[in-house]
Amino acid sequence: MHHHYHHIISHPFHFHFIHAVYIVFFVLVLLVISFYLGRSAQRRSSRRKLSLSKHYFVGLNYLLNEQPDKAVDVFIRMLDVDSETLETHVAIGSLFRRRGEVERAIRIHQNLISKPNLSRAMRIQALIELGHDYLHAGLYDRAERLYLEAIDMGGKVAAPCIKPLLTIYQHEKEWVKAIQYAQLLQAQLKEPMNTIIAHYYCELIGASFLQLTDTKFKEYLALALAADPKCVRVSLIEGEWYMRHNDFKTAIKAYKRVKDQDADYISETVEPLATCYEKLHDETGLHDYLYQYLNESPRLNLILTITDKLQLWHGDKVAADFIVEHLRKQPSIQGLQRLTELYIKQTNAEDQQRWQVLQSLIQDFLRDKMRYQCGHCGFTSKTLDWLCPGCRHWGTIKPQLI
Ligand SMILES: [Zn+2]
Repeated sequence: MHHHYHHIISHPFHFHFIHAVYIVFFVLVLLVISFYLGRSAQRRSSRRKLSLSKHYFVGLNYLLNEQPDKAVDVFIRMLDVDSETLETHVAIGSLFRRRGEVERAIRIHQNLISKPNLSRAMRIQALIELGHDYLHAGLYDRAERLYLEAIDMGGKVAAPCIKPLLTIYQHEKEWVKAIQYAQLLQAQLKEPMNTIIAHYYCELIGASFLQLTDTKFKEYLALALAADPKCVRVSLIEGEWYMRHNDFKTAIKAYKRVKDQDADYISETVEPLATCYEKLHDETGLHDYLYQYLNESPRLNLILTITDKLQLWHGDKVAADFIVEHLRKQPSIQGLQRLTELYIKQTNAEDQQRWQVLQSLIQDFLRDKMRYQCGHCGFTSKTLDWLCPGCRHWGTIKPQLI
């Protein structure tokens, strides 16, 4: 043992990082093996001890010489896998997986599963490891089957299966199952999942928005709100649903809830709310809503919507005066663009041309502007994605002022 150890350290190969990782890992492996061998010496024949250690040293030697496939062959050829050596095999497989060498990890773990003498607990562990390999390789179907098999064998959902299965169901857009595993994660591992569960219900509604029955819709909606009463997306979906079913009063109630849930999303409700009031021919209601919100939280598109209405009700001049007043308090490119539009209508032909140059410049500028940004990772986009493509967080992308 000591002789081998010394030999490894003084071997004159290139001592770069990969070697360092392998060496640290296998020194640990060797310590574990020698401990077990020493401990079990009385129980086992000395012949087995010798052949076992020989196999591990041969495998180690291949790894150190950057011949991982030969090393894998050696480990696979080892016939005996018991509770003492299982951990070593699992660790070697996981090492390959973490290094991105998934095929080798799969070979090692598949070999484990093929052993007939594994105990139930060992087989479950091997199934889960192989599941991790397939998940890593992007083979979601196979990974799912292995995790479910492990769960079947264990009689209950093992903690290491929950997160990967949740990843799989979210990726495959199987929302009912995703909700089930998110709830398990919350119950068993005490991770707060309420925000995500609410989004899963929203996805579930969105996936069959046009086919859902009224009863089913209300059921999902109630469950989503129960999970996360602050979920803005639930209110937006509810508003959309009732607008589609021409129940504009209920839609208005849903959209107005957004202000108390997260005022940053008010801008998402201005257009549909204005439409709802118009559908109801409730001009007073619209006027009151717009000015109440303007006082409480003067969002840009609220100002733009009021500008539109003022133009309609009182003409270009009143609308232009209104937007100028608010641009002073809250400068914005979109507001400036709207103002140039109003000025163009009020000036003579010669000035109109100048304003139009300015307006087309502003339009070019706005065309590529991102209207939404993730508060977690800074990812920007032109559309409101509820699952951030940058950091994979739910509900972190918000509208931003431009
Ligand atoms: Zn993000």
